[in-house]
Amino acid sequence: MSDFEGLTALVTGGASGIGRATAELLAGRGARVAVLDLDPSGVDKPLLGYRADVADDTSVREAVAAAVADLGGLDVLVNNAGIGAQGTVEDNDDTEWHRVLDVNVVGMVRVARAALPHLRASAHAAVVNTCSIAATAGLPQRALYSATKGAVYSLTLAMAADHVREGIRVNCVNPGTADTPWVGRLLDAADDPAAERAALEARQPTGRLVGADEVAGAIAYLASPLSGATTGTALAVDGGMQGL
Ligand code: NAD
Repeated sequence: MSDFEGLTALVTGGASGIGRATAELLAGRGARVAVLDLDPSGVDKPLLGYRADVADDTSVREAVAAAVADLGGLDVLVNNAGIGAQGTVEDNDDTEWHRVLDVNVVGMVRVARAALPHLRASAHAAVVNTCSIAATAGLPQRALYSATKGAVYSLTLAMAADHVREGIRVNCVNPGTADTPWVGRLLDAADDPAAERAALEARQPTGRLVGADEVAGAIAYLASPLSGATTGTALAVDGGMQGL
């Protein structure tokens, strides 16, 4: 099945984890795919890699322009780059709040601003934002991170309303804890990584972490013409965590 034959896609944070799995899935299904990342050095053909920092507007505009020129247009934007933060509101100072909000929220806005003029020219325009169950689950020790993802959820709904009449759909995915290099780094930093992994797995009703490929599958569905009547939704990919 080639859901994306003839379509083009840009995936931010596409050099690792969920973004990489998404870029590879879309390319495997026929899309021409560009990856925008802080470090695209490991991005291999057929993916095209572009270096940019979503916290820097100039680098975003230059990278999106270069990617769209090379792709020959833009149908799908996967707004996925993001960083983590741990702690309660007492643990992160203003500088840290501004830094993480700037990457996780304003970063998606910057990329969307640069991409929207090109998406308007597409007959199958779709934006998928990587949100998180943290947006709605009330996770402990994740105040700042959760606030950024709550903002991504609201941004998704607002963008869906603003752009639906232009033929641009905007949805988000809400992954639970997914087995990516990011989570690997968190586990490596724990006193007892094996016990920490077991605790994370036990938190999931399925008894295992979510696969990056499973999040990619949900993103691909929301990006594809198969979901052509769906906009302004959040698709949970959380192993049942929020439902039980
Ligand atoms: P990851 O660290 O494996 O990959 C993130 C990628 O984003 C990296 O390639 C990194 O270089 C890039 N990146 C980071 N900051 C950037 C910046 N300023 N500009 C450009 N690129 C940047 O992480 P992941 O686990 O794949 O997470 C991807 C997304 O999924 C994030 O938005 C994250 O919040 C979300 N998410 C992850 C999980 C999880 O458990 N892994 C759960 C819910 C949501």
